[in-house]
Amino acid sequence: MKPLKINVDVDSSLRDTPQAICDVYKQYFDSNSLLTPDDITSYDLKETFPLIHSVSNFFNTYAIDLFLKAKPYPGASKLLQQLYQNHFVYLVTDQPEGKEKLTELWARANGIPYYEIHCTPHKELLEADVIIDDKPSTINNYKKVFPNATTILIKQRYNSLEGDFQISPDCLEDILPIITSISRR
Ligand SMILES: [Mg+2]
Repeated sequence: MKPLKINVDVDSSLRDTPQAICDVYKQYFDSNSLLTPDDITSYDLKETFPLIHSVSNFFNTYAIDLFLKAKPYPGASKLLQQLYQNHFVYLVTDQPEGKEKLTELWARANGIPYYEIHCTPHKELLEADVIIDDKPSTINNYKKVFPNATTILIKQRYNSLEGDFQISPDCLEDILPIITSISRR
């Protein structure tokens, strides 16, 4: 089995940031809110959450709830532990400046191992054999720079109508066999 370099996004890929956003919104903005992650149909949170006026302020102000207290998706820890045994796993995340440490703490607290962590809005500058992300534009940018990389789109309501993606598994458990087969090629 050939060890692969695997770049894994964190928010909305491993971490249930959509649920954390809904919880923060209900707690601090609108106690009557019934919004759930399935209601998030756009990357622009303002379209789903009308009382959020500045998305960057929102992420900065509630960073601890969103980046530290948020739960991992089911299977996230198990998947990363399995990948980490045979591959180089990089967490690649676009955190607000100064909030990067929260993701390191979150990974440690939730049993998410990694070789290195990179915080950058330019994920496509980090070469990899496999890219896992929930954002189609990130996947598309990677494909332009590294056309031979395998890209795996994490399904979310807001990306369900966007184009054809190479691989979009139904759950995190389905990712390990995909990567194992790539590493045997
Ligand atoms: Mg993401």
